[in-house]
Amino acid sequence: MGKVGFVVAVGIATVTCVVAAAVVGRRVRSRRKWMRVVGVLKELEQACQTPLSRLRQVVDAMAVEMHAGLASEGGSKLKMLLTYVDKLPNGSEKGIYYALDLGGTNFRILRVQLEGRRSSTIRHDVERMPVPQHLMTGTSKDLFDFIVASLRQFVEKEEAKDSPASTRELGFTFSFPVKQTSLNSGLLMKWTKGFSINDMVGKDVCECLQQALSRNGLDMHVAALVNDTVGTLALGHYNDEDTVAAVIIGTGTNACYFERADAIIKAQGLPTTSGGMVVNMEWGNFWSSHLPRTSYDIELDAQSPNPNDQGFEKMISGMYLGEIVRRVILRMSLESDIFGPVSPSLCEAFILRTPLMAAMHEDDSPDLNVVARALNDVLGIRDVPLKARKIVVNVCDVVSRRAARLAAAGIVGILKKIGRDGTGGIAGGRLKGGGSSSSSRSRRTVVTIEGGLYVEYRMFREYLHEAVAEILGEEFSPHVVLKVTEDGSGIGAALIAASYSSSESVDT
Ligand code: ADP
Ligand code: MG
Repeated sequence: MGKVGFVVAVGIATVTCVVAAAVVGRRVRSRRKWMRVVGVLKELEQACQTPLSRLRQVVDAMAVEMHAGLASEGGSKLKMLLTYVDKLPNGSEKGIYYALDLGGTNFRILRVQLEGRRSSTIRHDVERMPVPQHLMTGTSKDLFDFIVASLRQFVEKEEAKDSPASTRELGFTFSFPVKQTSLNSGLLMKWTKGFSINDMVGKDVCECLQQALSRNGLDMHVAALVNDTVGTLALGHYNDEDTVAAVIIGTGTNACYFERADAIIKAQGLPTTSGGMVVNMEWGNFWSSHLPRTSYDIELDAQSPNPNDQGFEKMISGMYLGEIVRRVILRMSLESDIFGPVSPSLCEAFILRTPLMAAMHEDDSPDLNVVARALNDVLGIRDVPLKARKIVVNVCDVVSRRAARLAAAGIVGILKKIGRDGTGGIAGGRLKGGGSSSSSRSRRTVVTIEGGLYVEYRMFREYLHEAVAEILGEEFSPHVVLKVTEDGSGIGAALIAASYSSSESVDT
């Protein structure tokens, strides 16, 4: 080889080396970035772990906190509110009853016809209306006059096509924090969900409604004030008398159950006809150091309008799951360019709604089209490679699985508190180990569940069922049935009004 040839050869070799080094360097860098994304996922998986041992700790903590909340006012983060519902509908209720369901931006009016026997369907008519924005922040008189005007129109329309009820009894579902003083009275503690009618705070909400009815000449009696979970329990019990608890997992989450009067230590001497009462747990506020908490949960809570509040709800309910997923994807995007430059939409809190998270999670197309579209349309992240889309599905899976398994542990916690979990339950606030009581062993127990997250999100529901069975064990879990209730918050209020008005009804 001549000198020139040698120089050319060396030159080519050098260029090849530089190019190869650049390619390898890029690959190494891209691999390193990819490993960082995988690392974020692994870390998330680790922090969200809910092995059976941990779920059992959550079950125990729930049962112990329930006991503490029943022992004294403010004894636990669980408020364990008295509902004054001391008997649940049993199918003997007869007649026509009304219900009004006010709990958010819509309100519903229902008319329910009961035949005096348990039947698979209850005849009912419903009308759903939005609450005009200006009434959410006006005066209580304006709000209730508007509601009563809608109610009057509904009653007139219904009674024109059907026989009028002899006396019009109404169940009022009011899903804001209320300190109940009897079945049909309760003081509004505070407004939530965008309502702010200052003249009503501290007032009796039933009285406000009853006064508006009289003022507007509508002959109707407010027979019961109920929380939406209590309505759900009422309908569940009407349909199936083995129903002992109700859980709502929708935008928020809450649960109630039937408790023995002597276990409600903070209200000793409470007169009940049945020896028990429904307790509204307000379980969204449950907290325990055993809950698997991540940095995402901590930041979400700190930046929320109610820090240190509703800790359980923030890990479980529909309002938050999509937001937790968004925070994880944002972190991945900040750590690597696998999602391209950080998208401004991805930085926007609550932009990723839980139904969309569910759709990504349940995307069964081979190239994950739904995930690609959601990332593109909502989060402004384009051209995401398939392996990154798979990571997004994994994130949804981890967040949803943890939520479902914690909700399952909460449910078993309630069963443990009332001795229906197949173990010894708790006594005197302390957990009894091992030995199973014979009544707990043999009795069929039904928990009724309602809410968009549970009903619409199949994977969430399946994880929840799986975890309940896992905690209860193969032998005992067939005794526990989880059932969906629909429209319980409205129909249930009418049922409670009926069971307290109807002479036909029998105590539970
Ligand atoms: P609310 O709790 O507001 O009374 P719902 O019980 O209907 O009303 O629950 C609505 C919530 O359920 C939504 O805010 C959403 O978080 C969740 N949700 C609704 N549809 C789905 C879905 N397809 N997948 C996952 N979550 C859903
Ligand atoms: Mg609801």
